Amino acid sequence: MTALDNTVSTAPTVTATFDSLSPINGDVVGTHPVHSAEDVEAAVARAREAAAWWSALSFDERAAHLNTWKSVITRRLPQLSELMHRETGKPHGDAMLEAALAIDHLNWAAGKAEKHLKRRRVSSGLLMVNQAAYVEYRPLGVVGVIGPWNYPVFTPMGSIAYALAAGNAVVFKPSEYTPGVGEFLARTFLESVGRPVLSVVTGYGETGAALCHAGVDKVAFTGSTATGKRVMAACAEHLVPVVIEAGGKDAVIVDTDADLEAAADATLWGACANAGQTCAGVERVYVHEKVYDDFLAVLVAKAKGLKAEDSATSQIGPITMPKQLDVIRSHIADALARGGRALVGGADAVGERYVQPTVLVDVPEDSLAITEETFGPTVTVAKVASMQEAVERTNNNKYALGSTVFAKKNGMDIAGQIRSGMTSINGVITFAGIPSLPFGGVGDSGFGRIHGPDGLREFTYAKAISRQRFKPALALTTFDRTEKADKQLVTMMTMMHGRASTLPKRSKKG
Ligand code: NAD
Repeated sequence: MTALDNTVSTAPTVTATFDSLSPINGDVVGTHPVHSAEDVEAAVARAREAAAWWSALSFDERAAHLNTWKSVITRRLPQLSELMHRETGKPHGDAMLEAALAIDHLNWAAGKAEKHLKRRRVSSGLLMVNQAAYVEYRPLGVVGVIGPWNYPVFTPMGSIAYALAAGNAVVFKPSEYTPGVGEFLARTFLESVGRPVLSVVTGYGETGAALCHAGVDKVAFTGSTATGKRVMAACAEHLVPVVIEAGGKDAVIVDTDADLEAAADATLWGACANAGQTCAGVERVYVHEKVYDDFLAVLVAKAKGLKAEDSATSQIGPITMPKQLDVIRSHIADALARGGRALVGGADAVGERYVQPTVLVDVPEDSLAITEETFGPTVTVAKVASMQEAVERTNNNKYALGSTVFAKKNGMDIAGQIRSGMTSINGVITFAGIPSLPFGGVGDSGFGRIHGPDGLREFTYAKAISRQRFKPALALTTFDRTEKADKQLVTMMTMMHGRASTLPKRSKKG
């Protein structure tokens, strides 16, 4: 079944197609339709019909359907990871891990939606004691999901699974580099559930832009900050709300008492896994001067043993998007031109398809390798005099997605001072694999949250209901309100809120 049969069979015409190419050797992996604005509108109209059915199901019924889909994806993991490998170039094992984590999120979202979204009673307060108060989280309708290529399953599923579990239909526009993976998800969903509650439209940026104008009720965008701004502007025309999951420049902070072996290992993996093409990947490291040399020695030794190459056993694949090679090259060149030194890799690290691990030191803080997202297997390491300096330098960046702290005693304290959506202590990017934790950024890394209860609620609107239980002692919301009632209100308010408050005593830690 083609994407067209699968999703937009009512679409008027699809004439243009495009190829997705293997970044390993340039082979054509698949040919896909370039869906036009009319096609996208038709897909959204079909999704709206499906949404009416889906949202009327109970949480249990939706969970059962999602679990069927989950089991189909799980049984076809080898097929899916092969497709991911061919479209992105990432090693099979990495593709498998990515898909496995996405399945775990799907499981969590399906299982927990009722708990976090169902109607619940809340306190109505003293003034409104005669009322019963309820809140519930209702689905929005049709959610448009626009995805990137770097984690073509895990990343969009952070929106798709949570939006579906919350009762929405989803129209998914995968990256033009990974359309086959998008089609796999929609096809397996249709097979599992029988209705196009999840459908896919393929094409370039124009198809994504069309989705913003096609009458969806929310857009969940994951991609670069620059495109995120364009998506937000397009959605603003229709007052369509957006979630923006954008770029990052995540730092690792290493304290004096850190396990340096573990910190170096995590830094290298965080920087070079997926060839460095990870939104929450490690791009900067700030190490306390007392352990700087020791940390660096371990990191360099480990990095020298890692090679990006076209082989079945390679742990680092190619750069998926050819134009990114120029960005990585320019960041390394800028760092070296400004006095930085490459202890591993360097100017020659950037090849035609592969980039070798690169460890840079003495890089000024205003260099591109520190200020901009590199999205390659490179990392800068800087010496700091204190953890306060490490935190200040970490926070002095327009991006604020994730972060990592390696420390024994003060890990939680340091983590609490970092301005970023997520922090992992003594591990790297671990927060992404914990379904109950929200995932998202601050500043140029975007806003809104996927994953966890926040991620479920992101795809809903809060519905408040108040129900009168008995007539109020003080009738306030009537033109028959008496002078006596006004006086009683003042007395009551004075008793409840008129007393001056005292500042709580500060603990020694402040
Ligand atoms: P991108 O911005 O080039 O493209 C993302 C998606 O947007 C693609 O599907 C693309 O076709 C579509 N698009 C392009 N122009 C559009 C427009 N005008 N309107 C609507 N859609 C449009 O990003 P990319 O290169 O695919 O992904 C890499 C970026 O994604 C990196 O910056 C990375 O940090 C970020 N990312 C962020 C997260 C996160 O969770 N914060 C996760 C993964 C990737």
